[in-house]
Amino acid sequence: SISKGNSSPAKLVCYHNEFAPLRTVRYDGPTKRKRFYGCSYWPEQITCGFFKWADEVDDIRDLQQIIVEKDETISDLEHQVDMLKQEMEVMRDKVKKLKAKKEKLFEEVEEIGSATTETMFELKENNTDKRLMLTLVLSFSL
Ligand SMILES: [Zn+2]
Repeated sequence: SISKGNSSPAKLVCYHNEFAPLRTVRYDGPTKRKRFYGCSYWPEQITCGFFKWADEVDDIRDLQQIIVEKDETISDLEHQVDMLKQEMEVMRDKVKKLKAKKEKLFEEVEEIGSATTETMFELKENNTDKRLMLTLVLSFSL
């Protein structure tokens, strides 16, 4: 941040949107030698009324610095929010895919289940047939 006192002149603009030069009070009075920023057209033309004491500008610059830092913090946070939103989107997509996979697996398990039941039923029938055949063969040979 900018330190008070030995800072270089601020780049201020007057209400004409022109560079406001740093000047020193030359007339006798309590503010003699005090430095100020004023309209760049003074004294050749009618000024726009822009006037700021240099020592007040230091405070203003500090405030502007704080505002800039706050803006940076805000844009940082906004960036983080964007990143989190993107991550959330990715996670949402993953969840969606996992749900689809889960449903597919459930379907497969059901298919396997019914297939197994059918196979077991067939095996049972086969066994019954074999047993019946065996009984027939045995009874015939006896
Ligand atoms: Zn001006």
